Amino acid sequence: MEIKTTADIDIKLASTSKINEVDFEKLSFGNIFTDHMLVCDYENGVWKKPSIEPYAPFTIDPSAKVFHYGQAIFEGMKAFKDENDAVWLFRPDQNYERFNKSAVRMAMPEVPEEVFLGGLKQLLDIEKEWVKKGKGNSLYIRPFMIATGKGVVAAPAVYYRFMIILSPAKSYYSGEVKVLIAEHFSRAANGGIGAAKAAGNYSAQFYPTKLANDKGYQQIIWTDDATHTKLEEAGTMNVFFRINNTLYTAPTSERILDGITRKSIIDLAKRENVNVEVRPVLVDELVAATENGTLQEIFGAGTAAVINPIVGFEYKETYYELPKLDNPLALELKEKLNNIQYKIDEDTFGWTV
Ligand code: PMP
Repeated sequence: MEIKTTADIDIKLASTSKINEVDFEKLSFGNIFTDHMLVCDYENGVWKKPSIEPYAPFTIDPSAKVFHYGQAIFEGMKAFKDENDAVWLFRPDQNYERFNKSAVRMAMPEVPEEVFLGGLKQLLDIEKEWVKKGKGNSLYIRPFMIATGKGVVAAPAVYYRFMIILSPAKSYYSGEVKVLIAEHFSRAANGGIGAAKAAGNYSAQFYPTKLANDKGYQQIIWTDDATHTKLEEAGTMNVFFRINNTLYTAPTSERILDGITRKSIIDLAKRENVNVEVRPVLVDELVAATENGTLQEIFGAGTAAVINPIVGFEYKETYYELPKLDNPLALELKEKLNNIQYKIDEDTFGWTV
């Protein structure tokens, strides 16, 4: 894929770099940011000239709509470095498309490709030292947009700011993940904003997730809001179930984020001759498969962790433990996807840019 870099960007470089102060062996996810950020403002129907400038706080009016009405969206993607020091993005066109879908759903302006992808490419050129070689190392990319327009009036703003910030990351290890299957709370509803990466989708999960954490579960697997019988997705991951050697995942919908890792895993698993079925999976089916011994694996799939195996789940006050497999499919698929991302294996899908 060719990235348009025609965006004319004002570049103001930082006078010093923080890179030597960072211990790349001890990174906690999403807390350290690189030296520069991309900023592009939208005013009255027009995107202004973007700039790359030193990473720094900025001022914003207390009445800005982002604070009061939560008009905010974001994306999450990663850059990887190969053995020849080249920096690669994984399916960035998909993040770009999804970002603009989120924008439309939240009545925000779509961002031009040359600002989102072209701006990102220029920012990465400046920050390439922050992408470390070696499997597990990556640079997490956070594009986002907020409504900066003033006024406590519940209507869309006419002023917005699009930004990209970058955070170096080590491979993500969350420890053993046990999940709680939602019986009451919902993440999304038909007609709602579940399929958008809107900020409010995440804050709405904090309280039920805190209750789950208090019970000893790291994540919630959300179920459909109407019946709570269909398994949907987890906090920031789509979910897969391997039952009797078939890999199942729910179809994306108005309630489920169209995850890029999810669709890549489906393609990869099919290429590896794994039987894949995209269809709603019922909680009852999962419980029955656990009881009759056909449930093999559950795992989450998302950019941050790629794949996160789940060791057990609670439903209606009963805890179900998954079998411990010697060669889980989850880890095999993770390895294969990582090998494409780091350019170790040939990228037959054309996903790396
Ligand atoms: N579901 C939700 C709610 C998410 O926030 C994410 C992370 N973007 C995912 C699924 C996984 O999507 P992706 O594979 O594109 O990171």
